[in-house]
Amino acid sequence: MKKHGHYCKVCGEYKANEKFSGKGHAAHICKSCASLSPEKQAEQITVNRLLNLPWRLLKEQISWLKKRMKDKRPEVRALAKEQYEMRFPPKQLEDTDDDFDFLDENDFIE
Ligand SMILES: [Zn+2]
Repeated sequence: MKKHGHYCKVCGEYKANEKFSGKGHAAHICKSCASLSPEKQAEQITVNRLLNLPWRLLKEQISWLKKRMKDKRPEVRALAKEQYEMRFPPKQLEDTDDDFDFLDENDFIE
């Protein structure tokens, strides 16, 4: 069954026909996204791609994700890092006991 409306590749949402202009229709870009600069559109597409990555990544997706972690756009970099660390958590430091002691001490300060 097909979903109603059209998919906008920039914001990643299904929107009603009237949200697309004639040109945007073919390009799969809704009116509100069409008003964005090409750079912003490209960034938004990348962000959507990052958000829609499956939990289990293919080799190509991992290398793509790693490249995005070095992207020149800070938002893309931050999101890529988040997505990467969600799947490949960095090693936890084992000095958490010290932190707990510190917190306990603070509790007694009046
Ligand atoms: Zn859109």
